[in-house]
Amino acid sequence: MQTDKKLLSKKQKANGQMDIENYRPTDPVRFTQRLYQLASKRGFLVQKLGNTGSDPIILVTPKELNSGPNLLIAAGFHGDEPAGCWGILHFLETVSPDLLSKSNLSFLPLVNPSGFRHGKRTNDGGENPNSGFCHTNSGQPEPSREGLILVKHLPMLKSLAKDGFLSLHEDIELEQFYIYTFENADVPGPFSEALRAEAAKFTEPYPDGRLEGGLVCNGIIFVIVMALLKTSYFTRVYQEQLVLKLRVCSILTDGLKRTWA
Ligand SMILES: [Zn+2]
Repeated sequence: MQTDKKLLSKKQKANGQMDIENYRPTDPVRFTQRLYQLASKRGFLVQKLGNTGSDPIILVTPKELNSGPNLLIAAGFHGDEPAGCWGILHFLETVSPDLLSKSNLSFLPLVNPSGFRHGKRTNDGGENPNSGFCHTNSGQPEPSREGLILVKHLPMLKSLAKDGFLSLHEDIELEQFYIYTFENADVPGPFSEALRAEAAKFTEPYPDGRLEGGLVCNGIIFVIVMALLKTSYFTRVYQEQLVLKLRVCSILTDGLKRTWA
């Protein structure tokens, strides 16, 4: 049996995949080690934007830029939603060089490391790293420790997200998917439609109707950014950006099962 396990580990390493015996899904140190390995292997730079306690907030950017769109993908704002974080590692393991040569993809792979470690939505100070970026005129809290680090680097992050920003979340109470999109358009654009089509390969969209203060239509909660700007509602982070926020429950979780189960 021991020999079989060793052979399995060697085979996984040969495939560039996570060693199942050492796979600790909520260990930010292990996660970060694997991230550094993959980033180096796939031609990305890794930089620390700052630290919260002993945990770094990491940004991954391409070593060489091309003429393609600048897109930023973030995950792990909520520590109890780790699928997006591991989904980014899975993507770095499997993405084709051809796709990387046509786009400038950057990543914030784990925004809330302490929440990730404890499987909690908030950080270890009880703050929600996913709030405090807007609505500040209406008495909402200021950014969390993690949020302040992101705000400090906002010009660079906005440049990396010039053509799109995707934030990966989970809704652990639902089997279906839904997508928040914030766009300077009257209807969801092609990227939103492509996300919906991709998600529909794995599960059903949430039924049309109200959800979390929004209106779901065919799996999409669509928000027109310019309408928000007119109400001075959206002034800090998302202004003049195409912001796409994807909540995925079973899509990335299924992806994880396929990769590491
Ligand atoms: Zn979330």
